[in-house]
Amino acid sequence: MPLVVEVVPLLADNYAYLLVDETSGSCAVVDPGEAAPLLEPLRARGNRLDWILLTHHHTDHIGGAIELARRFRARIAGAAADADRLPPLDRRLVEGDTLALGALTVRTLATPGHTRHHIAFLVEDTQRPAQPSDLFCGDTLFIMGCGRLFEGDAATMWNTLEKLAALPETTRIWCGHEYTLANARFALSVDPDNPALRARLNEVEQLRAQGRPTVPSTIAQERATNPFLRARDPAIRRRLGLERATDAEVFAALRRAKDNFRS
Ligand code: ZN
Ligand code: FE
Repeated sequence: MPLVVEVVPLLADNYAYLLVDETSGSCAVVDPGEAAPLLEPLRARGNRLDWILLTHHHTDHIGGAIELARRFRARIAGAAADADRLPPLDRRLVEGDTLALGALTVRTLATPGHTRHHIAFLVEDTQRPAQPSDLFCGDTLFIMGCGRLFEGDAATMWNTLEKLAALPETTRIWCGHEYTLANARFALSVDPDNPALRARLNEVEQLRAQGRPTVPSTIAQERATNPFLRARDPAIRRRLGLERATDAEVFAALRRAKDNFRS
């Protein structure tokens, strides 16, 4: 059976994710910014929690980790290089490391940019390679947006985003915040003639009007609509007056424009 993902909204606009391998009952949670909203979903899954997976050290992603680890005897996994500012880690992860979630494989990707040692988790069904994989990318790639550059420079984040954009187009994207509507409005300001972007804005406006999350997206959708993956696009470059700049320079200009954008 494929991975089951349950979206758990918490704090102001964070998403934690419950990952369940239904065949084995194995369960993991990604980025528990607080514990309380996860208790009922975990109870409904039989009070089993094997792994707590942390993308980075910001409080809104780790705030509930220690309480959940204690209650469920779950193990905490996070970036080895951030061990001194994460909750006590049972697994210290580096690029390429894997851990098992029942029959599924959770692969670690180094995704620096938002923070120096940010990581993402790619969940693969290695027994069924045709099944799309699921990417849990914290504050790196958002739907039609990307994380702020708190510790990384623009070139670092651009490299990270290129690495994610190169994943199979069917890969589903589960990000750390519901920032989609604001991101879409900025995206339209720099890419106004992109029909895929306009169509996507309509879709996400409807989802949000119904109070529903806009996750998951896919790599294909992000390549078509996310300006931060489209630094090569001639129309975006023309609009910024950066026809001759490098991709990383265009990305940096987009990130600065977003930081100063008021919709
Ligand atoms: Zn963050
Ligand atoms: Fe965050």
